[in-house]
Amino acid sequence: MTNTKPLHAPQDQFPVSGGCLTIGGIPLNRLTQRVGSTPFYAYDRDLLTARVAQIRGAMPEGLSLHYSIKANPMPALVHHLAQLVDGFDIASGGEMSIALDTTVEPGCISFTGPGKSEQDLSRAIAAGVVVHVESRRELNVLSWVGERLGIAPKVMIRVNPDFELKASGMKMGGGAKQFGLDAEEVPGLLGELASRDFQFEGFHIFCGSQNLRADLIIEEKSRTLDLALRLAQDSPLPIRAINLGGGFGIPYFPGDERLDIGAIGNCLTERLPGLRAALGEVRLILELGRHLVGEAGIYVTRVIDRKVSRGQVFLVTDGGLNHHLAASGNFGQVIRRNYPVAVGNKMNSKTRETVTVVGPLCTPLDTLAEKMELAVAEVGDLIVVFQSGAYGLTASPVHFLGHPKPEEVLV
Ligand SMILES: *Cc1c(COP(=O)(O)O)cnc(C)c1O
Repeated sequence: MTNTKPLHAPQDQFPVSGGCLTIGGIPLNRLTQRVGSTPFYAYDRDLLTARVAQIRGAMPEGLSLHYSIKANPMPALVHHLAQLVDGFDIASGGEMSIALDTTVEPGCISFTGPGKSEQDLSRAIAAGVVVHVESRRELNVLSWVGERLGIAPKVMIRVNPDFELKASGMKMGGGAKQFGLDAEEVPGLLGELASRDFQFEGFHIFCGSQNLRADLIIEEKSRTLDLALRLAQDSPLPIRAINLGGGFGIPYFPGDERLDIGAIGNCLTERLPGLRAALGEVRLILELGRHLVGEAGIYVTRVIDRKVSRGQVFLVTDGGLNHHLAASGNFGQVIRRNYPVAVGNKMNSKTRETVTVVGPLCTPLDTLAEKMELAVAEVGDLIVVFQSGAYGLTASPVHFLGHPKPEEVLV
């Protein structure tokens, strides 16, 4: 029997120079001096650019690629992506402010999420942002606020489909959900929409996040398009766009393999003629978060203590779950597994040992790497957590235990 342990996908997007990881062409030691303090997040501009080009190359011509700001709202990163993508997906009033500060047309910004406040809906109408309607209450508020402002709100209906996406890290559609309007309700709602003053654009259907199985994503996208076609049949209003959501995964854990987006692109390309025959010039939109930015970012934290407890080596770092909840395993994971981690200033070191890397918080939940083989590290060395460009700082409880907030840089 072969005993091959599953490995992390190689993190070769960041070259190594003189034993030191480089990001944006800058050796990590130098970048740390430039930032001036640890911990910090660093995002690589060229990797973001390359990822957008790669996705565009795989997807049918004319598909609109949106960035879902929820994954990483750092303004410099959002402004960089504004030059590259066709639009943004926002999920809060705060994200709306960030998106509206960029050069992206408000009509290419879509506002999703449950519980949108009247104030935010009103701001969205005034800005010309497309609102994804997720409840009857939202439809009513949009209707009368639009009337008050003298603007016909731009809307899409977010549909909670009558099926689920299998093997998704987080399910966001199918069954009973707080997201969107149940598919069964949509025909009635379209009638109401048509009788009021709205600019109706189409449907938004998104089933789940962090999926690495191209076959399952293809099945889900096919069923999503079938559902959109079915709903379009009874619609008194033309369907101009179908937003297919996001959810493309990236490899985090040992054994995870990169998603085959070429296969997904081929499926969408095959469906386009049929969709156009039924709906006319319909626009397909993908709104990706994690897959666009996740692999372009690292979290860097410094070893401040090294101790041995009953034979086990612990490296204690100056940041942990307060800055990077997901890497600690407490953001949607059922069983804790290690993110890819390395000692960033000792990338070529041949002397290695099994260690547990923990943050400075007084809770056993604060673990960045558990019993992982790393280069032998001392106080002062730099621990790097890869795959940290999405749902990193923005999804972390920075106030917990009152440590300073980490810096973020785009290089
Ligand atoms: C979170 C979210 C996305 C992005 O999901 P990823 O898995 O990061 O691609 C896209 N659309 C909506 C509506 C979302 O809530």
